[in-house]
Amino acid sequence: MSTQTTDLLDRVQDPEDGREILDPATGERVGFAPQATAEDLDAAVARALAAQPGWAATGEDSRRQALHAAADAVEAHAEELARLLSREQGKPLNGPNARFEVGACVAWLRTTADLPLEPEVVVDDESGRAILHYRPLGVVGAIGPWNWPMMISIWQIAPSLRMGNTVVIKPSGYTPLSVLALVEVLNSALPADVLIAVPGRGDIGDRLCRHPDVAKIMFTGSTETGKSIVKAASDTMKRMTMELGGNDAGIVLDDADPRALAEGIFWGAFINTGQTCAALKRLYVPESIYAQVCDALVEVAKTMPMGIGLEEQNVLGPLQNRAQWEIVDRLVRAAKDSGARVLLGGDPDAHAPGNFYPTTLVADIDPQNPLVVQEQFGPALPIIKYTDLDQAIEWANALDEALGSSVWSADTDRAIEVAARLVAGTTWINKHGAVDPRIPFGGARESGFGMEFGVAGLKEVAQPHVISQ
Ligand code: NDP
Repeated sequence: MSTQTTDLLDRVQDPEDGREILDPATGERVGFAPQATAEDLDAAVARALAAQPGWAATGEDSRRQALHAAADAVEAHAEELARLLSREQGKPLNGPNARFEVGACVAWLRTTADLPLEPEVVVDDESGRAILHYRPLGVVGAIGPWNWPMMISIWQIAPSLRMGNTVVIKPSGYTPLSVLALVEVLNSALPADVLIAVPGRGDIGDRLCRHPDVAKIMFTGSTETGKSIVKAASDTMKRMTMELGGNDAGIVLDDADPRALAEGIFWGAFINTGQTCAALKRLYVPESIYAQVCDALVEVAKTMPMGIGLEEQNVLGPLQNRAQWEIVDRLVRAAKDSGARVLLGGDPDAHAPGNFYPTTLVADIDPQNPLVVQEQFGPALPIIKYTDLDQAIEWANALDEALGSSVWSADTDRAIEVAARLVAGTTWINKHGAVDPRIPFGGARESGFGMEFGVAGLKEVAQPHVISQ
């Protein structure tokens, strides 16, 4: 660990009596997380509320420059942030993991700063002139999960600040130090009190959702918690963006080349060791190329090293917490008990150090098996055989979750036709989970509502205001 990482960690952790945070790969102590009280939360909201008019008054150009300055600060601290993230979350430095996540923070800050959003002239004729403006909302409350703690925080912070709001952010109790360190770095480039982190558990999140001086909640996490937040926030009629759980389907068409698509499917499913909302979590493959796709995926998966995040060769890591390890273990056991065929993995050593679950591929599995219809959020992919494409589409569309999906084919036009029949916030063609700060992202059904990213994402953290003359 570099000295610099220790410096940043020392600035954000509680040396006295905070909650101990352990490295999910080694069980070693990472640090102590401070615990905010209800009074701390109220004081943070009061400071953010007081700072908001001044932040809005600085004007859009100043706020854009501030976001670029914040991106510069993240770049300057990129390696120490990545190392802390790796130790607390477990994800490796390399692959689409810790360094990638810090890089994404920079990309989202800069792109969000530069997005164009002008007042819209909606009517301009002899009957009159109406212009739609986008005003700040006030204080935005941000609540995030433990899988991509820094990147998802930036997804909430960057558009909110750009639109003239101030932000109070509550990180996940599993990964608070990563978010506190990120906020510390961002605040070196931002005015006082426009961004305040309040570390605590669900009770602090609940209070934020009920607070009368908070105008909007941006939440990313489980559907279950999302439902309780919608109830809590309704008394004060808050605006809400809900990015919730997913159980994304990928459909391979019979013209696809198994070897050409195997690596893309692998990373679509196993990015961040499967702990990704919009990862590919169930793969539907036609009988005609089923064996070849299974073989190609096994070949790719066998080459991907899993281990301690700080060891440079690894690209897959542990599950972030034991509860998630147990969910994956339970679902793979259910699949094995039902007679499904394990192609790779599926044999964890429950007594080995760290929350490691081996890369697991499961074939010949019933489409209604729990490993297929429940979100595993870990490194276990069920591969379901189909003979009728209409049936595969029906299976893909059958769940309450509908975040993302993908279609894999050598014929793009045909893939787009299938994509149009899928229910999801995003359907990718020959890739999966490839988010982009310019492209709106959100869920259908119980995967949530409201869009993030792009101009659509800016509008979600603004109050539309029409001036009609
Ligand atoms: P949780 O819903 O358990 O927690 C998310 C956040 O909500 C945490 O900060 C948690 O605090 C907080 N929280 C818990 N209870 C309440 C409450 N009553 N009121 C307000 N806040 C509360 O999700 P996980 O962290 O376990 O994340 C995994 C889930 O998130 C998966 O289902 C995944 O699909 C989904 N997800 C969705 C994404 C998307 O973009 N759609 C992206 C990433 C994940 P604490 O943990 O400290 O108690």
